[in-house]
Amino acid sequence: MHPSLWTGFFFRSYQPEESLRAIKQAGFCHCELAHEHLQDIAANKRLAGFKRTARTIGIVMRQCHAPFSASIDLADARQAVRERGLKIMSQSLDYCAELEIPLVIMHPGGVKGWKSKSEYTKIKALNYDAFSRLAEQAARHHITIALENMGETKTKRMYCSHGHELLDFIRSIDSPFLKICLDTSHANLIRNFNIAGFIEAAQDQLAATHISDNLGTNDDHLLPYAGTIDWQPIINSLRKIKYKGLLNLEIPGENGERNQGGCPRRILNLKARYCFNLLTAMIRSTPIESLKSR
Ligand SMILES: [Zn+2]
Repeated sequence: MHPSLWTGFFFRSYQPEESLRAIKQAGFCHCELAHEHLQDIAANKRLAGFKRTARTIGIVMRQCHAPFSASIDLADARQAVRERGLKIMSQSLDYCAELEIPLVIMHPGGVKGWKSKSEYTKIKALNYDAFSRLAEQAARHHITIALENMGETKTKRMYCSHGHELLDFIRSIDSPFLKICLDTSHANLIRNFNIAGFIEAAQDQLAATHISDNLGTNDDHLLPYAGTIDWQPIINSLRKIKYKGLLNLEIPGENGERNQGGCPRRILNLKARYCFNLLTAMIRSTPIESLKSR
């Protein structure tokens, strides 16, 4: 288990290459490449140079987030929207192959929710079609796709927001190249989502993490221990299943992204250093000692 920070932490303040340097300077050796940075370097045809820069700096890009937005939906009722989404996901796999990033995180389709059982059934079938095809492409590249557990708002639930639903879906496709990314903030929005239990149910199907906290009501993506998540059982379960992936912070609630002025660079760098120290302390904590009790 390695501490990691997603490069989006610096998205508003630094160019992609500078973000890698800032992450390294904070103490990290691993990161997740944010979807904004992936799109930036791909659009400017800088994939090869970016890969070289990461090597020179000494940062391993172990995972990457594929693009996502309200308009990208692999299970939209409209075929044109689905095909556009598939093209973007397929391109992301090609880009990551070029960058030699072994894992791509994607969102299941159905982000707008559903109003009837038949709509739900359709969303499930469309996801099956989309990810069967994407898993075949991923296998050709030897890249793992990690599907993220989604969140819930007061008015809608998204497909695969429940742990058993995501596990059932992954197992229905049954590809060694289709696994899971646990998003702790999303899980904390779902009533009765037992995160530690989910980790143990997923076992080696858990391939990546998005680590952040919230108060159980909004998708805030704050630092661990800023919200209501009980972290020690989560770390214990990750250790129990011998999780070898990244403990990767995805914390847009902490980098000033949601403030008008943003966060000054020197504060961002201080926060990144704290992120590294916090994750290191969490990883090193033993099952019998709780960081909370110190
Ligand atoms: Zn996430």
